[in-house]
Amino acid sequence: MKTVEDAIRSGEPLRIRSYAGKIAVLATMHGKDEAIAPPFRERLEMTVVVPEGLDTDAFGTFTGDVERPGNMLETARMKANAGLDATGAEIGIASEGAYGPDAAMPFFASGSELIVLIDRTRDIEVAEMLTTPRTNFASVKLSPGALKPAFLERVGFPEHALVAQPNEPKDGEPEPPRKGIRGKAELIAAIDAMADASADGKALVQADMRAHRNPTRMHAIAEVAGRLASRLQRHCPDCRTPGVGLVSTRPGLPCSLCTGPTRMMLEEVHGCVKCDYTQSIRRSDGLRYADPVNCDFCNP
Ligand SMILES: [Zn+2]
Ligand SMILES: [Zn+2]
Repeated sequence: MKTVEDAIRSGEPLRIRSYAGKIAVLATMHGKDEAIAPPFRERLEMTVVVPEGLDTDAFGTFTGDVERPGNMLETARMKANAGLDATGAEIGIASEGAYGPDAAMPFFASGSELIVLIDRTRDIEVAEMLTTPRTNFASVKLSPGALKPAFLERVGFPEHALVAQPNEPKDGEPEPPRKGIRGKAELIAAIDAMADASADGKALVQADMRAHRNPTRMHAIAEVAGRLASRLQRHCPDCRTPGVGLVSTRPGLPCSLCTGPTRMMLEEVHGCVKCDYTQSIRRSDGLRYADPVNCDFCNP
């Protein structure tokens, strides 16, 4: 068996049980502990608890009735700190998701999930991110009496809930969105009410992206939480801080035709969240050559 000293000499990240028996406070009001607690328990022997009475919707909602106060990382950081401040705990976790039309293929939806752990005892912040094409994110404008079965199938209704709001809110007091819709009668009533409150007479119906109403998103959160738990198992060989993982990438993957460097990623740079330690490793997906379509020489 490798000792800690062997691992330090080889420059490999260490595995120490830094978080065994520790408690992390998860800032959520949407049951994310269902997805986040298991990998933290299994990989780190850590207990994830959810504080009561924390209003994470104050940091932005998918329906847009509350704007997000910053980018994904800033918002997740604020939520994690709010959980720590409310409880006096030292380790806090929060996650943040973003869903919409894919940047490259606008006809398709894609999503990002970010999770952050703040450890005040070590004064570190460790984050992991996941982008996924697997999402039921979709929206449709409906007039009263119209139910689009293809849309309902696409979003996985009723296992996945829906939200409805006025498509063009009338001036004055805007009608608040109706969330967590899982019944057909409830949906029909919501479309009627929201269309009535809309200047164009239409309701905007969307997939409910809140974790506890969206099993597909809950899976994505479980996956990114697993990545974070694994990252926290890896300790810096220089300063022993947990959280060694991807910090940047280097381009230059050779073209399979001319072997020249392309703009595709050649190496992953893994580093410490506390000190300057970095180590370059080959792509973890095993790709060794780039398709010539990505080569500026072969496919200018
Ligand atoms: Zn080439
Ligand atoms: Zn370090």
